[in-house]
Amino acid sequence: MAASYPTKIILAFRSGGVCAMPKCARHLTYNSPTGDDTYVGEAAHIKGEKPKAARYEADMTDVERDHIDNLLYLCTDDHTIIDKVPADWTTVKLLEIKTKHEMQVRQAMELAFADVAFPELQNAVAWVSNQPPATNGSFDLTAPEEKIKKNALSNGARNIIAAGMMSRDTVAAYVEAEAQLDSDFPERLKAGFLEEYFGQRKEGYKGDELFELMCAFAQRGLRKQADRTAGIAVLVYLFEICDVFEK
Ligand SMILES: [Zn+2]
Repeated sequence: MAASYPTKIILAFRSGGVCAMPKCARHLTYNSPTGDDTYVGEAAHIKGEKPKAARYEADMTDVERDHIDNLLYLCTDDHTIIDKVPADWTTVKLLEIKTKHEMQVRQAMELAFADVAFPELQNAVAWVSNQPPATNGSFDLTAPEEKIKKNALSNGARNIIAAGMMSRDTVAAYVEAEAQLDSDFPERLKAGFLEEYFGQRKEGYKGDELFELMCAFAQRGLRKQADRTAGIAVLVYLFEICDVFEK
């Protein structure tokens, strides 16, 4: 068993696409100019994957071993080190590293919402110009809280949505400005997200997993923190106004 690719995408999202090892900071997403981004980091097992592996615990199930909570997003070098010298890299230490890194990524993103402006939004949705407009889907407003409950989202997702609401007016103004130049812009934007949303739902993803896969989608091709946060701001905006997520 190994972690599935969607699990790796979610792990990469939580890690900000960066190696979780303190001071490494290696960027582990290959931003493809033509195709989809590829997550080139490794989903390292904290408690070992197989007998004789570092930090292996016999009484765990394979599902628990491959669960995102037992995985650390690392570059190849750091993955090798933690597995070759487990005496230095205990379960406790690695769990600490994971928690701290993922928390820092989350906080950096939440803080950056306040600075989302038109240039970042422009970078975040550059793909929209190649996107055909949506043919279905309404723009009815649903209260975010109601939608959060309906989609069984946890506090983690709720915090991202609440923080993202800070840039709501900026995103709305941006979409309006773009619509002046290209009246199909809002429909194209929506179509891109809906396509991904329904595709992932068809694969069986729901709740937090689906939410985080959509966050990763919103950030694809983006490297700068400000642009990545702008991508999430757009997702949160659409979360409130359209059929991205059940209502
Ligand atoms: Zn590293």
